[in-house]
Amino acid sequence: MRRLTLAILLVLVLGLVGTTLAEYQYAPLKNVLSTHNSCVATSPSSECKGAVTVTDHGISIDYARIGAIVGLLIIGAYLLKKGMYKYRVWLLIASVVILGFILPTCTCDFVLMQTVFGILLGKVALMAGLSLLILFLVISAFTLVFGRYYCGWICPLGAVQELANKLTRIEVLSYKWKRRLRWIRPVMLVLAFLAVAVEVWIPGPTINWYKYKHPLILGLTLALIAISLFTYRPWCNYFCPFGYFLSFLHRIAPYRIRLVGECKKCNLCGEACKNAAMYNGKIDESLCIECGDCVNACPLKSLRYSRNIKIELKTPEKR
Ligand code: SF4
Ligand code: SF4
Repeated sequence: MRRLTLAILLVLVLGLVGTTLAEYQYAPLKNVLSTHNSCVATSPSSECKGAVTVTDHGISIDYARIGAIVGLLIIGAYLLKKGMYKYRVWLLIASVVILGFILPTCTCDFVLMQTVFGILLGKVALMAGLSLLILFLVISAFTLVFGRYYCGWICPLGAVQELANKLTRIEVLSYKWKRRLRWIRPVMLVLAFLAVAVEVWIPGPTINWYKYKHPLILGLTLALIAISLFTYRPWCNYFCPFGYFLSFLHRIAPYRIRLVGECKKCNLCGEACKNAAMYNGKIDESLCIECGDCVNACPLKSLRYSRNIKIELKTPEKR
């Protein structure tokens, strides 16, 4: 089964490369962005909108979409801070329903990173990429304060993978393999940058595939959901360039899951962590999505979502 999953992962990588080459034959980056990336739609009657729509008459800000994302981020931060991890699954379901179906919003990671790089490199006009840039800045700002909980609590693509894996509760990849495969993510981030530099568009999976009406995106999304039945969050852990970028902000965020007490090195936290981000109380910040599974697993209650480890450890000494 492990070999099968690795084979499917390989097919996914080859699929990304293949679709990139196929797209390159037909259209350069700017054209593809304007036709496939609905977040930069130039028509107000476009079916799929982002948080902002650029029309011939100017910029139309969709307060409902921005409000939905900010609202989910605020609720997620509140639940996390209160340690109410059992409600995380409900927030994931709400995210799929709201951002996927009620207010379809582009939170498509690969296109998002390419658009941001495109604006930085002057390959995408600021107005054309404004919608994704706003999403990028809003999510980055929350991550800078509360850590990388967007991935674990809000992202609709992460949510469908997690919900798919909950159906089977199968994990075919060992801790060792999960640690090895994490090195694909920096490659994907560099790939997103290089793709923009040479004006190639790389499609990625998104739960809004039905709005994109692109068979390759549908294929990638279905492949991802199929793989998710056998391993936990494959896109988030091994491919997502946006998640990888957010992990750098996570490292400097004041609020994070921290070891705040004694550790008897039982590694129950590591066994509970499906992301292979924990071992004997030591957290790999590049992979942690603040799901809280390790917090619930620690018998000494030594793991906590907290602001500053020094404050937590000083308190008992003062008594
Ligand atoms: S280290 Fe803890 S909070 Fe982070 S992903 Fe693993 S189980 Fe979740
Ligand atoms: S479960 Fe708690 S005590 Fe055991 S290794 Fe993890 S942090 Fe340490």
